[in-house]
Amino acid sequence: MQFPPWTDEHDQLRETMKEFSETHLRPYAHEWDKAGEFPREVFNQLADLGVLGIRFPEEHGGLGLDWWYTCAFVEGLSYCRNAGLMMSILVDTDMATPIIAEIGTEEQKEEFLAPVIRGEKIAALGVTEPGAGSDVAAIRTTAVRDGDEYVINGAKTFITNANFADFITLAVRTGEAGHGGISLVLFPTDTPGFSVGRKLDKLGTRSVDSCEIHFDNCRIPVKNLLGHENAGFYYIMTNFQGERLVAGMMANTSMELNVADAIKYGTERKAFGRPIGKFQVWRHRFADHLTTIEASKLMTYRAVAKIMSGQDPTKEVSQAKLFAGDQAQKVIYDCLQFHGGYGFIEEFDVARSYRDVRLITIGGGTSEVMKEIIWKWEEMGG
Ligand SMILES: Cc1cc2nc3c(=O)[nH]c(=O)nc-3n(C[C@H](O)[C@H](O)[C@H](O)COP(=O)(O)OP(=O)(O)OC[C@H]3O[C@@H](n4cnc5c(N)ncnc54)[C@H](O)[C@@H]3O)c2cc1C
Repeated sequence: MQFPPWTDEHDQLRETMKEFSETHLRPYAHEWDKAGEFPREVFNQLADLGVLGIRFPEEHGGLGLDWWYTCAFVEGLSYCRNAGLMMSILVDTDMATPIIAEIGTEEQKEEFLAPVIRGEKIAALGVTEPGAGSDVAAIRTTAVRDGDEYVINGAKTFITNANFADFITLAVRTGEAGHGGISLVLFPTDTPGFSVGRKLDKLGTRSVDSCEIHFDNCRIPVKNLLGHENAGFYYIMTNFQGERLVAGMMANTSMELNVADAIKYGTERKAFGRPIGKFQVWRHRFADHLTTIEASKLMTYRAVAKIMSGQDPTKEVSQAKLFAGDQAQKVIYDCLQFHGGYGFIEEFDVARSYRDVRLITIGGGTSEVMKEIIWKWEEMGG
């Protein structure tokens, strides 16, 4: 059997996204990165292409497709050469919303998921707090029940899409301390008492905002609870698998495109009378990197296959993100080095990639946390 199981349809989606990204997004990569924002209109363009709900049910406007199509989507989108923009889009499509498709009520899907697919609403994911990142079970933002409403108080930080978001898939404490007292709610950002605070000045992924957000006696209806009360930790961990998988895909595509650029640059730039790509030290290094990229992609595809088989993909996803994230640091470091001084100049994609890729070993679960998870699975027998 062919692996990965690409069909003409996958290739077509990848090509469509590549063409769209190269034409409509890549020309602005540097400008948007410098400005620290991009036009909301991009979401409408993506909605027109029909790609904001690839795995979501057709009855809510999605395409009802599977993870291999998400893979093709991310691979094509990566030609925008702007990880901040990609983060914003993937938070909307693959980090904040899949859990709604999975466990949301029909009413929640109509109110929150369908407008995301149409590009009318943008979603954010609110888990991390100033005092709790890796340790999700330590979150302190409270949701106290008062009749048919929850009253929410607290703060979150590092929230991607904070200024764009029409709603937040939000982790709150509804019960006892620890992982057993957490719930997920759908929080509309026009709720009185909600405010977006400081926009964080980041090393990379600068095209999208990451902000602190605050909740001051915010009242939302109890019907906005996702799934069961106090089962939120489990939902977050399930949801993390998709988030980590697309992060791994982003690292792979970034490595792939930057190595391709470097190899091309090596045929153009000369030193000591010959193209720098002719120096054996670099040829060997890029041969190593091409091999690493192939291995990393296969690990990611293996994790996709595990999800598709209906089995728990936690170990494979954690390994794929760990490997892709860690390797990308080395590979893109070398791609920049190979460009010499030009690699340090922002007009070259590699400078931005070098800054952007740093996030992959941190966001959505750090490399150390991935190792903890992998080791726990090993202890449990695999
Ligand atoms: C640009 C950006 C965008 C983000 N977007 C979002 C978003 O949209 N929504 C959201 O909810 N969050 C978001 N995050 C938060 C991100 O998921 C967290 O930063 C990440 O989970 C790490 O948490 P922390 O920053 O609090 O680090 P900490 O948890 O404080 O970790 C600090 C260090 O301690 C290490 N450490 C922690 N626990 C262990 C352990 N058990 N064993 C060994 N080492 C350990 C970590 O690996 C790390 O090196 C974003 C972050 C960034 C930087």
